Amino acid sequence: MTDATAAKMLSAEADDHFHDECGVFGIYGRQDAAAIVTLGLHALQHRGQEAAGIVSYDGNQFHVERHVGLIGDTFTKQSVIDRLPGNRAIGHTRYATTGGAGLRNVQPFFAELAEGGLAIAHNGNITNALTVQRLLQKQGAIFSSTSDTETILHLVALSKERDINSRFIDAIRQLEGAFSLVALTSKKMIGCRDPLGIRPLVLGDLDGSWILASETCALDIIGARFVRDLKPGEMVIVTSKGIESVFPFEVQKPRFCIFEYVYFARPDSTVEGRNVYDVRKRIGAELAVENPVDADVVVPVPDSGTPAAIGFSQQAGIPFELGIIRNHYVGRTFIQPGDSIRHMGVKLKHNANRRMIEGKRVVLVDDSIVRGTTSQKIVQMVRDAGAGEVHMRIASPPTRSSCFYGVDTPEKAKLLASRMSVDEMADFIRVDSLGFLSLDGLYRAVGEAARENESPQFCDACFSTEYPTRLTDIEGSDNVRTLSLLANGGQ
Ligand code: SF4
Repeated sequence: MTDATAAKMLSAEADDHFHDECGVFGIYGRQDAAAIVTLGLHALQHRGQEAAGIVSYDGNQFHVERHVGLIGDTFTKQSVIDRLPGNRAIGHTRYATTGGAGLRNVQPFFAELAEGGLAIAHNGNITNALTVQRLLQKQGAIFSSTSDTETILHLVALSKERDINSRFIDAIRQLEGAFSLVALTSKKMIGCRDPLGIRPLVLGDLDGSWILASETCALDIIGARFVRDLKPGEMVIVTSKGIESVFPFEVQKPRFCIFEYVYFARPDSTVEGRNVYDVRKRIGAELAVENPVDADVVVPVPDSGTPAAIGFSQQAGIPFELGIIRNHYVGRTFIQPGDSIRHMGVKLKHNANRRMIEGKRVVLVDDSIVRGTTSQKIVQMVRDAGAGEVHMRIASPPTRSSCFYGVDTPEKAKLLASRMSVDEMADFIRVDSLGFLSLDGLYRAVGEAARENESPQFCDACFSTEYPTRLTDIEGSDNVRTLSLLANGGQ
């Protein structure tokens, strides 16, 4: 087992969440482009902490920097920024979803094509990437990574279309799954979202320079103006002449990831017209209505459970207290010194604030339960601190299925809710009662009257097990005949 794998396992054990996917950021037409991208990526660090990369273009040549580690550890050195000159740049921060860890999978990916350089940064996951990759390999393509983003680069390179816009469109029309992409050529910055708009991507403006970013918090950090969300299926092309928008896909009903509101997006971001913090408070209020409990204090599992706990407390009229304190200085890759103290993992991150808990009936509010390992340890910690009763309330429905759209999730069999009833889960994590938000309650919290079951308004597959796209790499590849590369023999 490599150190990276061991660290990831330990991290997963100590932090039992679905893990954020990736963050992308690009700016066109500003002299200090790479420095701005660094700041944007810093604001998007919650979307991926394993590695980051920036590609810039100086009017003459492209420059590429890719490093393993946090933005603050790798890109703030002036020497690194100095190696990224130019007035346009794109960047990416990643948590390894597809392709595993390692520098060869760090984005943006860059290649010199026949008509010039092309860099691509991707948030999401292509659910037919392996199938396409195998086809291209049979036709002689050589891949230098295991990332699905490299597949997109190949599709653009091999397209028979004449200009880069058409080649790009030809490539993305062959993709399935979730993709919010930012690309850079010598003359253009391109952004696009998959036709369902599963992952976010916003357009901003900084003194006349166009910006593409995963979330609005990345605009706030540099004082940029939020212009709008890119629409599902929209592709924007930014050049020195301005911005152009095209819609290369058949129009479909959007299916934005509802889990972005529960956990992934930063609470100070506004996503698809909804402030994430507001939604999380409404989630907490719905949770209190659906799962009332007699208790003395509402305690969030910090930080992600905090806004929902505030909403729960306000709705239920039960005082809110910070009964658990989080240590913010535990890195994701903290490697504990030996097996004998591995069980202490959760205490590295959380500690009970005994005075707020002792002798009380406590409602613990967390965003989700994945494997249940962290919940079990936190509940024990709260009991050890003297709680009289512990009632757990979860700000999302039971997580029953894996995500294939750019989120690091355990396989289905490891998800507690896929193999236990709510009562069995309550026994497993040893709480006096356990309650989850219903799927309709979650839809109400995001402002919908109810889930439209025939044609849902969001992707909620990890709760409902209904996936909004084909999963060709998993289900089989009977639709690969639609690939244009195959249709024209891959020549
Ligand atoms: S499966 Fe869940 S986490 Fe994945 S995109 Fe859908 S709602 Fe989001």
